[in-house]
Amino acid sequence: QEGCDKFCAFCVVPYTRGAEVSRPVTRILDEARNLVERGVREITLLGQNVNAYHGAGPKGTDYTLAQLIWELDKVDGLERIRFTTSHPNDMTDELIEAHGNCAKLMPYLHLPVQSGSDHILKRMNRSHTAESYLRVIERIRAARPDIVLSGDFIVGFPEETEAHFQETLDLVEQVKYGYAYSFKYSTRPGTPAAERALVDAAEADDRLQRLQALITKHQREIQDCMIGREVSVLFEKPGRDEGQMVGKSEYLHAVHVANANAQVGDIAKVRIVDAGTNSLKGELLS
Ligand code: SF4
Repeated sequence: QEGCDKFCAFCVVPYTRGAEVSRPVTRILDEARNLVERGVREITLLGQNVNAYHGAGPKGTDYTLAQLIWELDKVDGLERIRFTTSHPNDMTDELIEAHGNCAKLMPYLHLPVQSGSDHILKRMNRSHTAESYLRVIERIRAARPDIVLSGDFIVGFPEETEAHFQETLDLVEQVKYGYAYSFKYSTRPGTPAAERALVDAAEADDRLQRLQALITKHQREIQDCMIGREVSVLFEKPGRDEGQMVGKSEYLHAVHVANANAQVGDIAKVRIVDAGTNSLKGELLS
């Protein structure tokens, strides 16, 4: 899926990539089968606004992203499916249900919100409120309680006051992201927000630091909660130590496993024994 029809006030994608275009279902399935034959176990469906996917299906009607995921679910040898990046307004009931019912769809979701302030969200032209975003999160967690969420944030967007920023901190406190990407607003020429007055740079820097400290605190807490849990790890590369392998859990945590006795592409059950902010350590379960 390429392009986007959402026109967020800060974003160049609708101008540089144009309107949303989705690849046909059969081409994606053919590519997936081909990749699986070559040893691929995990596929990430990519798009600027991937959950607005509407690709031509084999029966002459457009398929949604949820329908595409269920088609990929039938591909033998494909073990894991992910998708990114999504817009909250396109998290449909059937896509949320897939998170609950499709075993191959991994329990990780990147769902940007950008700000926790309704005033700033309106000025960003995001077409959703903080409350509607939180309701979507609630529905996703009801369908898949162990899901790990990640998000994107822009701080210091034009007109953002300390009170607006506090609303972002409040939202982050409520959601508790496993990961989040946060940036200080910078002007993109040609976008509607480019004409607006900037927030004081030192103030924006300070807000970014405070937001990142809160995000890192939650990230660490969520990583710590993994200790003692059993996860499945898809090994991606050898680690620094002899015999060590590094892979990704279903929650997209980087997991280092000593004496893994595994090849790249193997999936193994692992018990988590230690946690850092950015990665976990695990032991192979026989
Ligand atoms: S931020 Fe995302 S949803 Fe908004 S216009 Fe850009 S690509 Fe589209």
